Amino acid sequence: MLLAIAAVAVLVWMFYAPGPRVREPVVTRAHQPELPPADQLPGGDPSRAIVVDSPAVIDRHAERWPCPVCNGSVRCEHHRAELIAGQRQRVARVHCPRCGFERDVYFVLRGS
Ligand SMILES: [Zn+2]
Repeated sequence: MLLAIAAVAVLVWMFYAPGPRVREPVVTRAHQPELPPADQLPGGDPSRAIVVDSPAVIDRHAERWPCPVCNGSVRCEHHRAELIAGQRQRVARVHCPRCGFERDVYFVLRGS
């Protein structure tokens, strides 16, 4: 029981302790950094494919970058295997439900 109270105290302290991050002005965080154009995003073209260990993580990776048009979160519709310049790549199709923007994100499996 004492341990539980101590754990809660530590958690509360971690959240409320004043640190450099807490004192950071809120204004700068509300200001989103400008996103690069779609083809400059990671995985934007086959030559800059993102290296992953397993196809199972592709959805999660593809959805990591927000929509370059409206900054909304994108959804990975599907991904397929493609042979590009002699290399086997996985191409994930991401779609933004908010503005309809779509793009392909290129992946390559580690060791392939
Ligand atoms: Zn969008």
